[in-house]
Amino acid sequence: MEKLSKPDLARLLSIEDENEMEWLFDQAQKLKWQKSGNKVHLRALIELSNLCTQNCLYCGIRRDSDIERFTLEKEDVLNYFKAALKYNITSLVIQSGERRDKSFVAFIEDLLCSLMSLKNEVRITLSLGEQTKETYKRWYDAGARRYLLRIETTNRHLFDVIHQGCSLYEEKVKCLYSLKEIGYQVGTGVMIGLPGQTAEDLANDLLFYKTIDADMIGMGPYIPHFGTPLGKSFINSFDTQAKTKLVNLSLKMIACCRLLLEDVNIASTTALNTLDPEGFIKGIKAGANVVMPNFTELKYKKSYQLYEGKSGLTEFTLPELEKKLALLGETINYSDFGDSTHFTKKQCL
Ligand code: SAH
Repeated sequence: MEKLSKPDLARLLSIEDENEMEWLFDQAQKLKWQKSGNKVHLRALIELSNLCTQNCLYCGIRRDSDIERFTLEKEDVLNYFKAALKYNITSLVIQSGERRDKSFVAFIEDLLCSLMSLKNEVRITLSLGEQTKETYKRWYDAGARRYLLRIETTNRHLFDVIHQGCSLYEEKVKCLYSLKEIGYQVGTGVMIGLPGQTAEDLANDLLFYKTIDADMIGMGPYIPHFGTPLGKSFINSFDTQAKTKLVNLSLKMIACCRLLLEDVNIASTTALNTLDPEGFIKGIKAGANVVMPNFTELKYKKSYQLYEGKSGLTEFTLPELEKKLALLGETINYSDFGDSTHFTKKQCL
């Protein structure tokens, strides 16, 4: 739907009536089916390290958080990947706290080479934050093909409030363009329900995705981490009612994103599933087409608490997901990498 304007989007995001919401989700799911089929793509998520040089006010693994830090060994990552392969999952997402030192850049490069030599038929996504263009290029040359870097919010004032200078808006945008120039499939996204964020802000976020011509979107609810500067004030207000509202708002964002961007890949995120045990499925029903089961071992997952109660702590049950998807008329795609249709189409031009 080319014609969705900012006021249209803000209006759709403000829907409260249950029936109207269902209508919106239906439209989005139908459009997804039309544009990229009724298939859900799986990505094995590996949380590589919670060491972080950034100090984002919302994040549980920020530099100042007093938590036990870990970095996986290369062997661990290779083993988690092998576990994913047993489920026929050939797409991998490697996420981590942010580091830019030489040894980290080289470690990732070496890791990518090892993963590629283990199985050349693998699609690797990185989610390792802001880096120089040279670093992005090195990692691309070593085999990475997708990169996720959330803009977090396009409301500049809010962006500055939640980053306090540790991250600059212009820098993130520059990174996104560098990634595109190198040839990555580029993903971005925002947190939904940040303090002071309006429906108009969220509409602007969606339009930003369109402006930068994103291939993949990963966005989810902002969930307070009570040990962070931004999260601590929510300790008494983050109740069931607030959570239900936030789940619905996140689903409306997914649906609006599908209607606006049509053929991109959209993740049904862990944060959504943390607030609602049916979150993954509800996201798919509202127009998402990617789920990222976590393959990191429990002992490390526990130390990767970006927010309160982060789910994925329980082992992922693929057959259960398959059954639920079948009820929606959707199946898991095991036959290819599930690249973003939006990206693939551009390559053919
Ligand atoms: N450091 C990397 C990746 C790790 S954080 C990067 O910045 O890209 C991955 C994502 O987790 C962030 O982009 C952010 O959107 C999300 N996140 C962090 N804290 C969160 C919170 N409290 N609630 C919801 N999402 C959060």
